[in-house]
Amino acid sequence: MIRIGILALQGAFVEHAAILKQLGADTFEIRQRKDADQEMDGLVLPGGESTTMGKLLKDLDLHEPLKQKIEQGLPVLGTCAGLILLAKDIEGREDGHFKTMDVTVRRNAYGRQLGSFVTTAPFQGNPLEMVFIRAPYIASYGDEVDVLATVDDRVVAARQGQMIGTAFHPELSADPTVHALFLSIIKKEDASD
Ligand code: GLN
Repeated sequence: MIRIGILALQGAFVEHAAILKQLGADTFEIRQRKDADQEMDGLVLPGGESTTMGKLLKDLDLHEPLKQKIEQGLPVLGTCAGLILLAKDIEGREDGHFKTMDVTVRRNAYGRQLGSFVTTAPFQGNPLEMVFIRAPYIASYGDEVDVLATVDDRVVAARQGQMIGTAFHPELSADPTVHALFLSIIKKEDASD
């Protein structure tokens, strides 16, 4: 059975677990160092507040082990703040977090009025409900990055190899498309072992 570790410092980690379970995967929560050392086939970085999460990751000694696993090819799904954790660059900031995905993100990118909204837009060509909560978007990206979805010409979901980042919260909609894509990446990796 596929086993997914979900970073559980903040945010909607319970909802991620529910969808992954519904799709037949097993999940566990990552709260402290010993959790990060467990065997896992994939990692979910949920939403929250990326600056706080980044600080907690370091304080709890989770930053290095998780970064190493992602760099070694562990499939990862980062949603909203989770995408910011993956991004190589954050506009207006010198430092970043894991910096494993070749994207530049703009935080809180939709302004105050549009801080939170729900819309439907094509994800890999099929309509998907997307819940945005003080979300970032991907302002620019490197050659290895494939765009999965845009809203108003702004990139809101992308993939680079085994990493998926979404600006929206797929765990807050009933549609399991994004999590199913994530699990399919893991299954393909298994098959090629
Ligand atoms: N605005 C948050 C940040 O910059 C992200 C919001 C979210 O994850 N819903 O970290």
